[in-house]
Amino acid sequence: MDGTDSPQAAIHLVLLGPPGAGKGTQARLLEERFGLVQLSTGDMLRAAVAAGTEAGQQAKAVMEAGDLVSDAIVIAILRDRLAAPDCARGTILDGFPRTTVQAEALDALMAERGQRIGAAISLEVDDAAMVARIAGRYSCAGCGEGWHDSFKTPAKAGVCDKCGGTEMTRRADDNAETVEQRLRAYHAQTAPLIDYYDAKGVLARVDAMADIAAVSHELSAIVTRAIA
Ligand code: ADP
Ligand code: ADP
Ligand code: ZN
Repeated sequence: MDGTDSPQAAIHLVLLGPPGAGKGTQARLLEERFGLVQLSTGDMLRAAVAAGTEAGQQAKAVMEAGDLVSDAIVIAILRDRLAAPDCARGTILDGFPRTTVQAEALDALMAERGQRIGAAISLEVDDAAMVARIAGRYSCAGCGEGWHDSFKTPAKAGVCDKCGGTEMTRRADDNAETVEQRLRAYHAQTAPLIDYYDAKGVLARVDAMADIAAVSHELSAIVTRAIA
């Protein structure tokens, strides 16, 4: 803070990383700690598929194959969501942008609002370890909390620590074959964004092979510096 009573400026963060890197897990922790809003385009697309909207119908097969949904669809969904009043507090973009076209669209959306991306954080992992992370992933149907068969287990098996819910779900695309295609899509289309944000001077890299608490500690330090 600068010594005045002005409210903290909203910060917008981008989390980059392949499937299983921990974007969703860390976004939720940052949401709690810094009062930011998690924006997951994967969650938005899964909601559109479940609701059977036109965008959802177009996205369904693409997602099941592990390919990227078209920029036009994803940008339109993100633009609408970013316009909601709660996003003025600041956001954590989890899974967006995933292409250079999306990154440029995001810059334009930020500029329209007089805002910018304060930090882009690359969660760096070994691809080989991502298959086990994805295969063991599930989440609570009640509150969305993410869990893992081995790496993040609830205190009582089958019961969500956060909300007490007992209905757990696994994603249709979380299988070994689709993971390989999603990793290929990440390297071909999304990894170039690491250089994109580095050139803008907002990139931070984090060793995301460390355990969840250690990664969270590093991310909090980066966000604290970016807010200052
Ligand atoms: P992403 O959103 O990047 O695809 P998630 O946050 O959903 O990744 O994490 C994938 C799975 O791995 C989840 O089941 C999560 O509980 C687990 N996980 C997340 N971070 C770690 C970590 N640092 N070490 C071990 N497992 C992790
Ligand atoms: P992950 O845990 O693999 O990072 P997400 O939940 O972020 O998964 O995304 C799941 C799927 O939704 C992706 O494989 C892709 O098909 C689609 N998707 C999500 N975000 C985007 C995006 N920004 N651009 C294109 N497709 C996306
Ligand atoms: Zn829950």
